[in-house]
Amino acid sequence: MSLKIYNTLTRKKEIFKPRKGKKVNMFVCGPTVYDYAHIGHARTYIAFDVIVKYLRKKGYDVFYLQNITDVDDKIINRAKEEGVSWKELARKFEREYKKDAKSLGVDSVSKYARATEHIKEIISQVERLLKKGFAYQIEDGIYYDISKFKDYGKLSGRTALQAEDAVSRIDESKKKKNKGDFCLWKFWSGKDWEPKWRSPWGYGRPGWHIEDTAITEKYFGPQYEIHGGARDLIFPHHEAEIAQMEAISEKKPMVKYWLHTGFLTINGQKMSKSLGNFITIREFLNKHSARLLRFFVLKSHYRSPIDYSEKAILQSQNELERIDEFVEKIQNAKFKIQNFNSKFKIDKFKNKFEEAMDDDFNTPKAMAVIFELIREVNPMLDKNQITQEEVKQILEFLKFIDEIFGFILKKERVKIPEEIKKLAQKREILRKEKKWEEADKIREEIKKLGYEIQDTAGGTKIKKL
Ligand code: AMP
Repeated sequence: MSLKIYNTLTRKKEIFKPRKGKKVNMFVCGPTVYDYAHIGHARTYIAFDVIVKYLRKKGYDVFYLQNITDVDDKIINRAKEEGVSWKELARKFEREYKKDAKSLGVDSVSKYARATEHIKEIISQVERLLKKGFAYQIEDGIYYDISKFKDYGKLSGRTALQAEDAVSRIDESKKKKNKGDFCLWKFWSGKDWEPKWRSPWGYGRPGWHIEDTAITEKYFGPQYEIHGGARDLIFPHHEAEIAQMEAISEKKPMVKYWLHTGFLTINGQKMSKSLGNFITIREFLNKHSARLLRFFVLKSHYRSPIDYSEKAILQSQNELERIDEFVEKIQNAKFKIQNFNSKFKIDKFKNKFEEAMDDDFNTPKAMAVIFELIREVNPMLDKNQITQEEVKQILEFLKFIDEIFGFILKKERVKIPEEIKKLAQKREILRKEKKWEEADKIREEIKKLGYEIQDTAGGTKIKKL
């Protein structure tokens, strides 16, 4: 079966075909780390986690890259308010973001890349844009001249002229050539709390849009398969990315498939930090399980909006309980030696599930297949008319879905003993000091005690063997 994906760039569903075989390079805009993440962010990151996990199940070799915006006016201003350095604040909320992602089972990212660790690449892109005449310097920074890029607006369907009235995170400077021009490099204002890096134009810091293309060019080159984010990023952020990369490389398209998630709203309004109508991920998890949030999010198609309410959460909880009851029942099923004529075919459900997911990752349709399976198998269980083989097939299928959706099987929380945690910390210190042999010895010691250390993009994980 072939996978179809809705592409924001072409505004239609297209058959998914990576540029080279099964290799898929995918980039999703990460958070600006100045506060705790809310369930609106969770909606977007859960959606992409499921998309990546499904692609991997289909045999694609996905490298999932996500940036961390750790330099931005919002970070600088918040740090100033709180009397801490911008770096302290950014590192703290990056850690908290990764903790939240882990609690939600969002663990598919291959690499996180901080903006501030790619300053060299950013400067190189700005230099090339200046050289090619797509950028100009004024008193407070270097700007991109959108009138020079004739494709400006191709993703969002806006023209350069319409961009004149654009306000969202487009930097305001009276000296700009066009109102929609955005800042590539901001000159240091001389305030000592502002982050700054040396550049050919003096001290300064990157604008928001340039970090993503600098990072993707480093890891993927000028062209790659998938770029994602929520729909508020289509304009100007993703439009700006195209303008930067395609002007530099003269290769197009920069991205073959653009995917955008719908918003999580509350009373019909986008959940956002600035509107103050948000529920943080941890507030949600104090009351409900991570499985429930994944279920609630995946009940809607990733491109559709989701309106959050406690009532809608309760509804999801009831539905999830039906799955829980079924899983328990099938795990404890008593089967007979087959002396009945079974018409049950697991392939029917497997095919329907794949068909739904192949249709632009239609998770609500795929979830309907789970309930159809429950409806068909429940009477078989009640009548004790199910074979051992059928139970095995159903459990395998449920496990397969769980590895993508993450809400089918209850996750038993394994408590890691303090002794193991301490050893893992000791190993981390040794690794930082590059004492690899000693670090490996501790890893072995941990293994003998029945636990395994895994070093992942999200940090070190400890697992019970
Ligand atoms: P930010 O930290 O605000 O840059 O957001 C990080 C990611 O979460 C971006 O892809 C945003 O578009 C996305 N996002 C923010 N708010 C929401 C929301 N209410 N619903 C869905 N996605 C969101």
